[in-house]
Amino acid sequence: MGDEYVPNPNLKIWLNGKMVPTAEAKVGVFSHGLLYGDGVFEGIRVYNKRIFECRAHMDRFIASAKAIRMQLPWTAEQIVAAMNDTVKANGTTDGYIRLVAARGAGSLGIHPFRTVAPDVFIICDKIAMYDAEMYEKGMKIITAATIRNHPAALSPQIKSLNYLNNILAKIEAIDAGCLEAVMLNHEGYVAECTGDNLFIVTRGRLQTPATHSGLLGGVTRRLVLRFAEKRQYPVDEKIITRTDLYYADEMFITGTGAEICPVNEIDKRPVGDGKPGPITKQLMADFKAHTRSSEDLL
Ligand code: PMP
Repeated sequence: MGDEYVPNPNLKIWLNGKMVPTAEAKVGVFSHGLLYGDGVFEGIRVYNKRIFECRAHMDRFIASAKAIRMQLPWTAEQIVAAMNDTVKANGTTDGYIRLVAARGAGSLGIHPFRTVAPDVFIICDKIAMYDAEMYEKGMKIITAATIRNHPAALSPQIKSLNYLNNILAKIEAIDAGCLEAVMLNHEGYVAECTGDNLFIVTRGRLQTPATHSGLLGGVTRRLVLRFAEKRQYPVDEKIITRTDLYYADEMFITGTGAEICPVNEIDKRPVGDGKPGPITKQLMADFKAHTRSSEDLL
């Protein structure tokens, strides 16, 4: 069932203040991060040895920890230093950082405060989300039957270790022969994809679901909104229906791992003429240029 995964044994992983090889990077079975998915994380890119949009990711990480009442044993500055050490230790030029804070070991009840300090770790590895062909021709996606978590139950704004909601929708995508799926919110409006935000272009207007539709406020999403502003594209952050998706001229997804990837088919309907459109291509170029700059935008 599925592809065999073998972790790279040669990684240097930062775990609770120490740099250890893959084989020694272990968290115990009493971790509440593991037992209950009680924890938070970030996925961050490294381009040209530089942590990309570091501040925006750290702000979100700290905000997520605050939302789940987790006291981090390290300051933001210490974590950034540790991420830079991990990038160096692995000799990474272009890669991906996974920063995790998992609620520490505790009793077999969910009580989050009867635990020891959270385990914090940083993995820096290579990443290849989708095939190069998808970035040229676009990817096909579906709408999942699984709706996004109700924001009043578990806010999608919190980047928590609880990804089962997204994973169930991802399984639907895989079963349909796709790699991404659109998730609707509890009201039936478009929220986001399983691990990416979603944009459409309709009659020259760039549109994306507003954060109150119940989605993770993506760093890449915010960058795209900045590029659009600079290019003076009209932008709407609003309620978007599934039918709006079928009428779109262009569509793309955004995420740290995926970057910007065009969508050429949704629920068996071609998007526009079935090829990545001009606004999508321009924003992809703007994103690429930004990954090469040495200044953060957010
Ligand atoms: N939505 C979800 C559910 C995600 O997990 C992610 C991150 N992979 C995104 C959107 C995109 O956010 P970002 O651009 O900050 O990576």
